[in-house]
Amino acid sequence: MTGSPRIVVLAGGVGGSRFVLGVRAALRARGIDDTAAALTVVVNTGDDLWLSGVRLQPDVDSITYALAGVNDTERGWGRQGDSERVNHELQEWGAGWPWFTLGDLDLGTHLARTGWLRVGLTPAQVLERMSHRWDLGARLLPMTDAEVDTVVVLQDGSRLHFQEWWTRHRATLAPARFENAGIEAAAPAPGVAEAIAEADAVLIAPSNPVVSIGPILAVPRMREALRATDASVVGVSPIIGGKVVRGMADVCLTAIGVETSASAVAALYGARERDGLLDSWLLAEEDEAAADEVAGLGIRPLVRPLWMTDAARSAALGAAALDAAGV
Ligand code: GDP
Ligand code: CA
Repeated sequence: MTGSPRIVVLAGGVGGSRFVLGVRAALRARGIDDTAAALTVVVNTGDDLWLSGVRLQPDVDSITYALAGVNDTERGWGRQGDSERVNHELQEWGAGWPWFTLGDLDLGTHLARTGWLRVGLTPAQVLERMSHRWDLGARLLPMTDAEVDTVVVLQDGSRLHFQEWWTRHRATLAPARFENAGIEAAAPAPGVAEAIAEADAVLIAPSNPVVSIGPILAVPRMREALRATDASVVGVSPIIGGKVVRGMADVCLTAIGVETSASAVAALYGARERDGLLDSWLLAEEDEAAADEVAGLGIRPLVRPLWMTDAARSAALGAAALDAAGV
């Protein structure tokens, strides 16, 4: 390949941002300095919500803060060294959700975003503007400009916003299904389909397959774009040793009738040669026994260390994914 490769990553928040950091580091290790020109991240916006009059984009913010190096690595969300004065005041007013903390610095982000949305910028334009503050070393695109916030429909038919189900109830209420109202009429955000079409590699981050990658793939024309690209499509298993690593993705998988295993998630995405999306699937050494099953799906299995417990391991995983895609 001549010149800098063009990489597209589909990502959710926590697993997504660790992986994106790893891919950025792997590109730098290959001597690519302008990683912003090489790396495009298509981010899940199914987690987004309106709260206390402001627009929150949890996965977008997790990735932005992580790339900027200003994320709270201990808590796993929000800004490093944040305070909660405004949050306390909101609670005194009885506004917002008492179980959903908004840090002061984080609220600055939400206010800036909401202000720009209010004067008519699209979510993609807002994100473009927000990407200038820090040297992110990546271009971030929302999956769509449409508001398609994920709703959890419980088995008794009641409905709640994904964030309420996830954060307040810790995914303990049995879901019947997940919905993104209006997504059938949505389109990929400007630049998304083009980036996929022109990519040398498309990487599916080890994010929640149902509520992070699921909404991205549910945007009309997204699957077609992934199936049509000349780039290799490489996925990374979020399941290691038959278990979810962090979070409660197993509950989401069970709700849509998918087993919590590396091969079942590969089957959910499917093989490109058989109406699905994947050319290769990175699965953990702990799941080596599932490699044959993945091969049987028509997907090339590659057994690699998948733990992203520090920057070096994340970078090694990023490099393994690039290698798998042949870039
Ligand atoms: P969220 O949007 O914050 O829930 O985060 P994501 O959807 O991006 O990522 C959540 C998923 O990341 C979980 O299902 C985990 O199984 C997966 N994950 C977290 N840490 C790791 C890791 O170190 N390695 C791998 N392979 N997957 C991970
Ligand atoms: Ca998320």
